[in-house]
Amino acid sequence: MPRLNAKQTAAVTLALDEFEATVRAAMRAALLESRQGGGEGGVHDLGEEAIADELAAVNSSLAERHGQELLQAVQARLRLVEGSAGICTECDGAIGYPRLLANPVALRCVSCETRHEHTHAHAAMPRL
Ligand SMILES: [Zn+2]
Repeated sequence: MPRLNAKQTAAVTLALDEFEATVRAAMRAALLESRQGGGEGGVHDLGEEAIADELAAVNSSLAERHGQELLQAVQARLRLVEGSAGICTECDGAIGYPRLLANPVALRCVSCETRHEHTHAHAAMPRL
């Protein structure tokens, strides 16, 4: 069975804590950065306004990504509680403990993940 033992579950939980802390730190940094642009002495001319617009767009797509990552972390914790962590969602094989430690929100084993990226990479790209 590809299930994690208690020690592995504890280690993956720690990895998830770290993953979440990293995402939250990045969110805070992005928020602080976006605030520095506003307020008094912020935008002076059209050039700076365009840059401010661009930054706002970057920040909102960043915020979206961070939200996704936090959601993935919550789902990964659920799988740990349910005992389905470490099981590939596509082939029911083992994701692999080292892979989970490196990427605690991984849903698939390496071969399913590779296939998934090949078939979904283009669909996930935003269309302009
Ligand atoms: Zn798989």
